[in-house]
Amino acid sequence: MNCRHCSAPLEHVFLDLGFAPPSNAYLSAADLQAPEKYFPLKLFVCGKCWLVQTEDYSRSDELFTKDYAYFSSVSTTWLAHARSYVEMITARLGLGSDSFVIEVASNDGYLLKNFVANGVPCLGVEPTDSTAAAAEAAGVPVAREFFGQDFAEKLVKSGKQADLIIGNNVYAHVPDINDFTAGMKTALKPGGTITLEFPHLMSLMRLNQFDTVYHEHYSYLSLQSVKAVFAKAGLRVCDVEQIPTHGGSLRVYGCHAGDARADGVAVARVLAEEISSGLQDLAVYQRFQREADKVKNNLLAFLVEANKAGKTVAAYGAAAKGNTLMNYAGVKPDLVSFVCDAAASKQGKFMPGSHIPILAPKELRERRPDYVVILPWNIADEVVKSNEFVREWGGQFVVAVPALRIF
Ligand SMILES: [Zn+2]
Repeated sequence: MNCRHCSAPLEHVFLDLGFAPPSNAYLSAADLQAPEKYFPLKLFVCGKCWLVQTEDYSRSDELFTKDYAYFSSVSTTWLAHARSYVEMITARLGLGSDSFVIEVASNDGYLLKNFVANGVPCLGVEPTDSTAAAAEAAGVPVAREFFGQDFAEKLVKSGKQADLIIGNNVYAHVPDINDFTAGMKTALKPGGTITLEFPHLMSLMRLNQFDTVYHEHYSYLSLQSVKAVFAKAGLRVCDVEQIPTHGGSLRVYGCHAGDARADGVAVARVLAEEISSGLQDLAVYQRFQREADKVKNNLLAFLVEANKAGKTVAAYGAAAKGNTLMNYAGVKPDLVSFVCDAAASKQGKFMPGSHIPILAPKELRERRPDYVVILPWNIADEVVKSNEFVREWGGQFVVAVPALRIF
């Protein structure tokens, strides 16, 4: 197998999580009677361009099923993040009624609806029917397509280029990162700006966030790797911000390579920080498996002890990272009896692999578990706040990453 960006042979395993089903393949009761598809979940690091990436093993259309259930608007933290981003970028770029904004993977319109409200023309690009329909219902125009060079060329032919191209938590999810980046170059107006947000590989490694690894997440990005991918496509990273979403993300600003604007000082600072964290040191990558195993073993030890002591354990948040953690740890409903999730589309289903039933959050009150393991640790504060009542019967919250915490 060769690097998806630079084509160098991939020789170095970064993390091996065994076999797992696609993290969004939630199961119905009927599905439990049938065999389940498992794929290897293994990451490599490219020794030449340092892009961390999944092993190629299947086509993306096998993973992104039609009833893909994630709706961005379910998380209030995420909605607030989108709103404040729109305010910031509108002021920074002076966007108005004569501007044109594209968001790739616009999901249910959670972000673009803010531009619609401000009278800034925009277009969402979103191949998932259910979320695209929700965006359209909220007044957000959507092209139901995958973004890449083909789509960008069609857009240009129709006389459109963007002043701003937004990609929040999509860049790491595209199988062909070079084609996606070429598409951004084509769709970007001269003088236009790209902003991409993605989980920062440096945070993943520092904070043991191995549960953010799943099949649909093809690349694990750093500023140095994005800089290389941009350069090849004729783009330049002209600024960067470190933001707290998803346990430590980067918001990268891009422009055409020949753009006159000067680079922000943060670009050199973050690159230096990456190098001092060992992101150009193979030995640092090769130590990561041990750290991941420590987190997994501590969680398992806690669950086994709780079980022996006759305590009941539930989980909160049937998110993709929860599926990775449950599957890597081999947890089944005997150790975690159910998981609550606010998304109605997941309720009544079962987590892939672990087969833990997904119930509505009100079941916490009904069933009064002794422990609630918060799987999406990045929104732990939000979960604790809205489920404070667990303490009424002496219940406690548990978070496994970056280290086991019971509180
Ligand atoms: Zn490479």
